[in-house]
Amino acid sequence: MRTVTSLRESIAPPQVQRSEVPSTSTPLNPSETVDKLDTLPVTVLRGVGSRVATRLERLRIRTVQDVLFHLPLRYEDRTRVSPMGSLRPGDQAVVEGVVDLAEVRIGRRRALLVRVSDGTGALTLRFFHFNAAQQTAFERGREIRCFGEIRTGSATLEMIHPEYRLLSPGDTATAEDHLTPVYPATEGVHQLTLRAITEQALQYLDAPAGAPRLVDWLPAELVRAWRLTTLPAALRFVHRPPPGASVELLAQGNHPAQQRLAYEELLAHHLSLSRMRQRLQSLAAPVFAGRQPLVEQFVGSLPFAMTSAQARVIEELRHDLARGHPMARLVQGDVGSGKTVVAACAALIAVQAGYQVALMAPTELLAEQHFRSFRTWLEPLGVAVVWHAGKARGKIRDAALQAIGSGAGQVAVGTHALFQTEVEFARLGLVIIDEQHRFGVHQRLALRDKGRSQARRPHQLVMTATPIPRTLAMTVYADLDTSIIDELPPGRQPVKTVAVSQTRRDEVVQSVRNACAAGQQAYWVCTLIEASETLQCQAAENTAAYLAECLPELRTGLVHGRLKPAEKEARMAAFKAGDIDLLVATTVIEVGVDVPNATLMIIENPERLGLAQLHQLRGRVGRGSQASSCVLLYHAPLTETARARLSVLRETGDGFEIARRDMELRGPGEVLGTRQTGEMQFHIADLLRDEGLLAAVEQVGHDLLQHYPERVTPLIRRWLGEAADYGEV
Ligand code: ADP
Ligand code: MG
Repeated sequence: MRTVTSLRESIAPPQVQRSEVPSTSTPLNPSETVDKLDTLPVTVLRGVGSRVATRLERLRIRTVQDVLFHLPLRYEDRTRVSPMGSLRPGDQAVVEGVVDLAEVRIGRRRALLVRVSDGTGALTLRFFHFNAAQQTAFERGREIRCFGEIRTGSATLEMIHPEYRLLSPGDTATAEDHLTPVYPATEGVHQLTLRAITEQALQYLDAPAGAPRLVDWLPAELVRAWRLTTLPAALRFVHRPPPGASVELLAQGNHPAQQRLAYEELLAHHLSLSRMRQRLQSLAAPVFAGRQPLVEQFVGSLPFAMTSAQARVIEELRHDLARGHPMARLVQGDVGSGKTVVAACAALIAVQAGYQVALMAPTELLAEQHFRSFRTWLEPLGVAVVWHAGKARGKIRDAALQAIGSGAGQVAVGTHALFQTEVEFARLGLVIIDEQHRFGVHQRLALRDKGRSQARRPHQLVMTATPIPRTLAMTVYADLDTSIIDELPPGRQPVKTVAVSQTRRDEVVQSVRNACAAGQQAYWVCTLIEASETLQCQAAENTAAYLAECLPELRTGLVHGRLKPAEKEARMAAFKAGDIDLLVATTVIEVGVDVPNATLMIIENPERLGLAQLHQLRGRVGRGSQASSCVLLYHAPLTETARARLSVLRETGDGFEIARRDMELRGPGEVLGTRQTGEMQFHIADLLRDEGLLAAVEQVGHDLLQHYPERVTPLIRRWLGEAADYGEV
């Protein structure tokens, strides 16, 4: 009997019922489980009708608890009134004065101008949107307080659309009595609304016994032992910092109140991923055990011996695959560490047991490389390798789908097209995803979570060349076990890296000539970030033409994203075969391309790329036993960050170190590829700043899962909202 399933369905999680979650041995006091604020709708707050409520949904605010956990992005200090005479353009300031004059100017754009003064100086308030009532309210002599950014105006300094309040006689309260929070807002929900509703929500923190209240899900022993700020105190502080609090310190996020919340947020993320792993562990997967002559044959056929790191990781995989539960393992290995052969071994273990393998890469170019390697390695062993990517059409596509559906295609290599519902596998046993970071965390989760359940899950192997510091991996990849290939094949020499200004382009061209004259090959990478792909390809074409002219004795080739796949494939194959000396390319060659005889890489405008990307690119050379170099051909002058990035590359070839420095320079979201997709965005935590909290997060996470499992879901929901439903489909 054969069950046909699609890849998408087959890696979906089980239908876990609430009741299946093991019950706790140390239940909470029943009254403590009343966490009413997390069900109390936001409409109980004054000023929140159904219209505002709908808008708040866009900020994922539905309950009073959501309001409390909608945390400020930054703060403004409006606790002091500044004399107008002391203002400078660019300042954010509170001023108080009297209205001298209000008039509507019909210039290029109709505007209401209000001149105010305070005895030390004068200021003009400029409104482009205003109504008649507003206009008449600015009576001459009326006292006013405003807050805004100071700009240079035509006659006096100005504030454009300041926040203001007309003071009535006897309204003596000067400025604000706490720092002013600035919240993430959305269209139709302004700061004033957010301030008004957080104000009300904060009052629930002082609610008497019996009233809806907020539960602290962290065990009380822990809060005491670590002298953590209590949850209500932390929330009060971050929403309304007292006047003494420093805006700069708060901006750094190191205040104990902020740290308390950051800790809880990291814990929630960690728990959500850990629980996903737990659930995966409760599922059945095919057992791949017994003798594996295919693997032995394959390893024996390679022209090199595995490094001990590769051998160790293969053992870890073998162990996982024999356990009868779905493997979920991340293999990290620096560029060139030999992840592909490790993946091939895993594939053969599955094939040996009579199962199919899906190998997926983020770009067609990389998928093609893998397809070629796998065919070369596996077909001599009698293993059928098939290709399926988005651009495949007609007969080729039908044949591939047919082979995958019948089981005749034992290893399917391709792009995310393999995840389309019409791709149905006969007996899928292992999914391999290469260069994980390009897919993004969210995609990984979504892929695992969508669809319906089935009796046996395939195993999952994820490979990445973006080394993730262990502590970060714990938060971002806590659903995966990790293996590290921490050794490069012997004989590799570090890639000598130099930064050279464009003014020395001729010398660089000469070095290409020399390398190729010595029988080696070179890459010339053209980059144009943020321009259209067309422009990028155009630039590469121009460069290729220019280089062909300078270096007529060389065979020059060009690859870019606009070529037909077959064309791209043909040119890459020619380069690999040594029929092209100099390959001009866009960053399409960034990942995975493997030509050991290429020993020189020129990267144009490296200042436009991130460190991780440069490291990836550079990893295309230094793959053989010859000394290799990389020339970073920059345009002077460099910005400070660009200079810092380039010097990191000159100093080190260690991917872990580079990733760490990259995260410092650009932030983890960018490096892990999660920024664009908008996930793994924290309300308050910061993976780099709060790295020190992570060890405790892991330990407490473990304790909570063990001893207080009933606290896990509400804690995750509080911070992740709907995302908490990952793994609970
Ligand atoms: P990456 O980890 O960057 O994906 P690859 O798997 O593409 O690296 O391997 C880089 C190169 O090193 C390939 O040419 C591969 O055949 C070769 N290689 C892999 N393992 C070894 C080894 N143990 N000894 C020598 N060369 C190896
Ligand atoms: Mg690779």
